[in-house]
Amino acid sequence: MRPKQRIGIMGGTFNPIHYGHLVAAEWSREALGLHKVFFTPSAQPPHKDATEIVAAEHRLQMVRLALKDHAQFEALDIEIRRSGPSYTVDTLEELSRRLTHSELYFIMGMDSFLDLPEWRNPARIAEISRLVVVTRPGYSFQLDAAYDAILPRPQEQLIQLEIPGLHISSSNIRHRIASAQTVRYLLPADVEAYIYHHQLYRK
Ligand code: NAP
Repeated sequence: MRPKQRIGIMGGTFNPIHYGHLVAAEWSREALGLHKVFFTPSAQPPHKDATEIVAAEHRLQMVRLALKDHAQFEALDIEIRRSGPSYTVDTLEELSRRLTHSELYFIMGMDSFLDLPEWRNPARIAEISRLVVVTRPGYSFQLDAAYDAILPRPQEQLIQLEIPGLHISSSNIRHRIASAQTVRYLLPADVEAYIYHHQLYRK
């Protein structure tokens, strides 16, 4: 029988996308033999203050620029086209309907994983996809009782993957741009040029 396609999904606000996101996706691609990684910028993240978030079209465009040289990475506007808050469970349900004969791997940072019990329908998320939690060198975690109902079969449903720790965050990049400090080498040069061209993140 034909083997299933392994598909990674890297969700994010990407406000803006940076090398931390790209390394997480690339190391997951290699370690898990993913055929493709889809980046799905959220329209309206359910958990973030909307006032600091630039328009979804700008974030999508920056993601496209960041991925343009990688044949296996692709931006999907699935959340941006859907109205209302971008719940991950809705995105994964839609992708699993569209991508038949595929196994889905949802890639997330450790902070996101620690918040997972607060998300909408986390047990369904872990049923539709395997969770790939990227950790920094030397970091791992123990599952506590909050995950019992979400991950009844943790050995199968959860993958912890150590990646190089890049101490880069979107909020620090926004802060540096607002203070006219350099962000060179924190994110792809085309994304940096896009930010300056459109005067994003200036106070
Ligand atoms: P983000 O800030 O753009 O980050 C995207 C992912 O990259 C996060 O998992 C983040 O992990 C990770 N990351 C960022 N910087 C990193 C670095 N230097 N090294 C390694 N990993 C890094 O996006 P977000 O706002 O956290 O959202 C993540 C996804 O979760 C989105 O798809 C969002 O829609 C989803 N979400 C869904 C719900 C829900 O369905 N109710 C609620 C909340 C979030 P860290 O978190 O560890 O930084």
